[in-house]
Amino acid sequence: MAHPTEVAIVGGGPGGLTLARLLTMRGDRVTVYERDAGRAARTQGGTLDLHADTGQRALRAAGLTEAFRRHARPEGEDMLLLDHTGTVLHRDDTPDDSPALRPEIDRADLRDLLLDALPPGTVAWGRALRTAAPAPDGGWELEFADGDRARHRVLIGADGAHSRLRPLLTPAVPHHLGVNTVEGAVPDIDRTHPGLAATVGRGSYWVVGDGRSLAAQRCSDGSVRVGLSFHGPAHRAADWLTTCGIPFARPDEARAALLPLFDGWTPACRALISACTGPLTPRALTALPVGLRWAHRPGLTLLGDAAHLMPPVSHGANAAMRDALELATALDAAPGDPDAALRAYEEEMFARTAGVAAESARILEMITSPAGGRRIAAFFRGEGG
Ligand SMILES: Cc1cc2nc3c(=O)[nH]c(=O)nc-3n(C[C@H](O)[C@H](O)[C@H](O)COP(=O)(O)OP(=O)(O)OC[C@H]3O[C@@H](n4cnc5c(N)ncnc54)[C@H](O)[C@@H]3O)c2cc1C
Repeated sequence: MAHPTEVAIVGGGPGGLTLARLLTMRGDRVTVYERDAGRAARTQGGTLDLHADTGQRALRAAGLTEAFRRHARPEGEDMLLLDHTGTVLHRDDTPDDSPALRPEIDRADLRDLLLDALPPGTVAWGRALRTAAPAPDGGWELEFADGDRARHRVLIGADGAHSRLRPLLTPAVPHHLGVNTVEGAVPDIDRTHPGLAATVGRGSYWVVGDGRSLAAQRCSDGSVRVGLSFHGPAHRAADWLTTCGIPFARPDEARAALLPLFDGWTPACRALISACTGPLTPRALTALPVGLRWAHRPGLTLLGDAAHLMPPVSHGANAAMRDALELATALDAAPGDPDAALRAYEEEMFARTAGVAAESARILEMITSPAGGRRIAAFFRGEGG
């Protein structure tokens, strides 16, 4: 390679690791600074649907289509949408010859396949970035939580929703979306709760009620992830998760406190909540302003949630991986001039992701509106919602 670039990426999520793979394929020297102590340091959460024109496209460019197919679950596209009384609003059954436009993959499997494709030593584990500042002679000086320092000419922030690098480019901060969520899991569901396993099926079981919803999704590790979402007047405040008195650190008590919030819902919904063992993770949903952009600064840019955190309605990881592809393509097109590449990438990324973020906000508005379930069903039927 005539002009190998030396690149630091902060954050080893889907966006950062996809970029690292694409850049190391073209001979660039890449370091990914990742806060986690190692690849098994924490559970990665549930499953992602990767879309043909974004996430899958990036994996194809990364030469990882075969590895992806080994883990992907086209049948995970199955979807049953109901209201809280059990009335079916929409049903999608994936045919055996599905074109796999949006197959599911567990987050852990995606992370592993990307990590396995990197040269050894690419990821510097246990390196939590604390601050970054312009270096006196150009480039960027990084300081990590353990006090260590590093200097890099090209710095990419792929460090997610609470990016430490974003404030160098924009004062924008994520705002609360009026939605609070709690996530749990039913492990080994086919053995422990075969009736519930049949209810959830091979993909998603999604119940949208007034001010609340429940989404149960099958993962390849035999578990079902259960996400509860609260957006009614009593539960939508930004601080509700901390003021509601539910002891999330004590899952047994928290489950008991959550159940009355689903009084009148079908027995299957309540049983899914009861069957969650292990930790319950509360999360206030936030997003960056739609159409966020910033004035370019030499040698620095953002991708993924760091750049355009959006409501989690199945676009975020896909957009992050497409960002990685566009950034790697821009670097290819401007050999020896990485800054021109970062500028070109930013213009493309701003334009592309503004539309995706607007669409995500529109879908969230539908889900949280009084007739949310029916509107989403209409949306799935192609009637706009
Ligand atoms: C409940 C839920 C469901 C979702 N479902 C979907 C879906 O189905 N499809 C979809 O496309 N998207 C989905 N999303 C969104 C998706 O998870 C994100 O958009 C995606 O993970 C963003 O990828 P990323 O690489 O930009 O950031 P992240 O995945 O957040 O990765 C950031 C990485 O940076 C590391 N890091 C953070 N701070 C530092 C630091 N200071 N120093 C070093 N490292 C650091 C983190 O440890 C992490 O590894 C969902 C989100 C949620 C919350």
